[in-house]
Amino acid sequence: MADCLFCNIAAGKIPSNKLYEDDTLLAFYDIDPQAPVHFLVIPKTHIDSAAALTEADAPLLGHVFAVIAKLCAELGCDGGYRVVTNVGEDGGQSVKHLHFHVLAKRSLAWPPG
Ligand code: 5GP
Ligand code: ZN
Repeated sequence: MADCLFCNIAAGKIPSNKLYEDDTLLAFYDIDPQAPVHFLVIPKTHIDSAAALTEADAPLLGHVFAVIAKLCAELGCDGGYRVVTNVGEDGGQSVKHLHFHVLAKRSLAWPPG
């Protein structure tokens, strides 16, 4: 989508601090980090949010979580990490392109605010 921020980041039209890239995914650091490690993983194709996922997206989601596990191991997130995807207004989603936040290297509170 031409006017989607994360589509433009995926296409390299808007710069990002990339951690990982392949044919289907991009991982890059969040511009406003909420933890010592805070990066985002996005599919390169536009999906509005997790609410738009279907059974057909199972391979994509498996790949997302495998890449997250690999990156967290490489970054030494030995104490654990949190994966979050916000959906819609009540979920706190500000960018309407599916993305997974990965937060690590501090103790994270639960429940979230
Ligand atoms: P949401 O609120 O939709 O769950 O998360 C969107 C995230 O994207 C926020 O954590 C925000 O800091 C991040 N973000 C927004 N604009 C940019 C940008 O231009 N570059 C990067 N790297 N992150 C962004
Ligand atoms: Zn998009």
